[in-house]
Amino acid sequence: MSSQRFKVVLLGEGRVGKTSILLRYTKGEYNDRQVSTLQASYLDKEVSLGEGSIAKLSVWDTAGQERFHALGPIYYRDADGALLVYDITDAESFQKVKQWVKELRKIVGNEITLAIAGNKIDLEKNRNVQESEAIKYAESVGASHYNTSAKANKGLTEVFNDLSSRMLTRRTDKGGLTSGGAGGGGGRGVGGRAKQKLGM
Ligand code: GDP
Ligand code: MG
Repeated sequence: MSSQRFKVVLLGEGRVGKTSILLRYTKGEYNDRQVSTLQASYLDKEVSLGEGSIAKLSVWDTAGQERFHALGPIYYRDADGALLVYDITDAESFQKVKQWVKELRKIVGNEITLAIAGNKIDLEKNRNVQESEAIKYAESVGASHYNTSAKANKGLTEVFNDLSSRMLTRRTDKGGLTSGGAGGGGGRGVGGRAKQKLGM
């Protein structure tokens, strides 16, 4: 039995569904008129990865600062993984994902594991982002790509499972962290600030 903690950040343009994804995934809740701010800055979720392996995720949400272009590196700097979200009906939100990937690679480098979610697939008839283009782009930057719907509860388990197992593989390959531990050995672990908030 081994468990590892990971910090995952949600990134993407305002209104793409980040908060809805978080609440659906961690609490099974969905609200058609999701208000733009969330009280907690992160929510926890345990993911079973088989063979007794558990990933303990703290999934961080923005407080809506992305709308004012005011989301700084302090939000994502110590993250193990990022879920980049766009809205399949909004082509601009997909361009925004590309900007986020560039910024992440520039500031945190290749250490961070990336997944891209094309959200709102319940609105498939209004699709404005070509799926094949999104998949090709994701591959080109080493990210996985999933279609999701927070509303219809589609694809969320899949994308977080995928992200978790890739974060775990990355950490294990580095030979860094031992069971349940943090720090030492070159693993990224959960950063100091997050540790305080997590009461670690
Ligand atoms: P955020 O700004 O990225 O956190 O986006 P929100 O979670 O606040 O969602 C913005 C709006 O999109 C809200 O009205 C949500 O109810 C709606 N929304 C979120 N996810 C979905 C989805 O999967 N399908 C549909 N149709 N609407 C969604
Ligand atoms: Mg939000």
